[in-house]
Amino acid sequence: MTAFWHPFADMKTVAGREIVLDRGEGVWVWDTEGRRYLDASGGLWYANVGHGRRELADAAAAQLARLAAYSAYDRFATRPALELAERVAALAPIEGAAVFLTTAGSDAVETAVKLVRRYWSAVGRPERQVMVARERAYHGVSGYGTSLVGIEPNRAGFGELAPNVVRVPHGDADAVAAVFAERAAEVAAFIGEPVIGAGGVHPPPDGYWPAIERLCREHDVLLVLDEVITGFGRLGEWFGAQRYGVVPDLFTFAKGVTSGYVPLGGVVVGPRVQEPFWRGDAGMFRHGYTYSGHAAACAVALANLDLIERERLVEHVRELEPAFAAKLRALEALPGVREVRTAGLLAGIEVDDVERAIERLRGEGVLTRVVGGTALQISPPFVLGEDDVDFLAAAVAAAAGG
Ligand code: PLP
Repeated sequence: MTAFWHPFADMKTVAGREIVLDRGEGVWVWDTEGRRYLDASGGLWYANVGHGRRELADAAAAQLARLAAYSAYDRFATRPALELAERVAALAPIEGAAVFLTTAGSDAVETAVKLVRRYWSAVGRPERQVMVARERAYHGVSGYGTSLVGIEPNRAGFGELAPNVVRVPHGDADAVAAVFAERAAEVAAFIGEPVIGAGGVHPPPDGYWPAIERLCREHDVLLVLDEVITGFGRLGEWFGAQRYGVVPDLFTFAKGVTSGYVPLGGVVVGPRVQEPFWRGDAGMFRHGYTYSGHAAACAVALANLDLIERERLVEHVRELEPAFAAKLRALEALPGVREVRTAGLLAGIEVDDVERAIERLRGEGVLTRVVGGTALQISPPFVLGEDDVDFLAAAVAAAAGG
């Protein structure tokens, strides 16, 4: 038996049936019985530089030994936190960005929503409280994240959630236009993932994000992108905003900033939302976490960004994307595969019997999980080669068929 209560798990069926992972190298992980698997999901969409990178362990060890952590409240800081904020701000597609650090994606979303609301009250428009979010969206599990999420079961059974959330179908800019036409004066922000992830991997239709950006500007609504999955190269650009040609007012990140080696997240904030706090009279943003700017986590993030740059991994994603898309989309011809959606090194593969396919994939030496209820999550480490894509495609073909 086990005492470990797994996240997002039905413990009645999971307890005592754990699949225990032991080590990893590149795109591969091994369980405690020595079986090797291709990590098709990159853990939970994070293992971007691949597993077993010694330099990230070394960066953590060096900072842990020097000064693991110190408060970043008020005037305090550590060198890695200052340096990481500079580095992320420089990579971000927003001029003059500031970076608020958190410990993961959920608290990045929480921070972004609180900041957006606090911004509107600071500029004398406290009635702007409505968040427009999308069906199928996933924004984590914090209070606001749970209220925003467009995956129904994630909201069920928790009683009353945060009010002032309006949900629209994803991929439909006209639906957003209709909400704004009616209620723009109450709307604080629009929030969306550049590509919907946990809701099933749904890339946007052509022109969607520029249309949303235009609508936000027309109606003076803040645009928030949730780049927790798409940030740091997953779509072949540093951020999804660049791939889709938009400039958000603020965006969240987590996962890929450390490739999951240690927990870390944050919010990149543009000059407009900074203004009342950094130069105006809004005073303190009364928000922050014990581990905001955690020195060892920031040191690992810096080493991770070094690695991504040195090995040109964002370019590699861009170069591999056509083969990745072609080889996976070819699976649509097979019985048992209904649809394959891709963007960058992300794919959602709709199969007839997803639970059975996942079990069979494990037998074929591939680990992944269900997203959107009916699809296989494909979000491998960036260090994937074309031969690994072939291995993955062959395994899916074998697992999904009749
Ligand atoms: N936002 C998005 C788009 C995510 O995909 C996730 C996690 O998958 C989160 C927020 C929540 O992040 P975390 O699980 O690190 O709290």
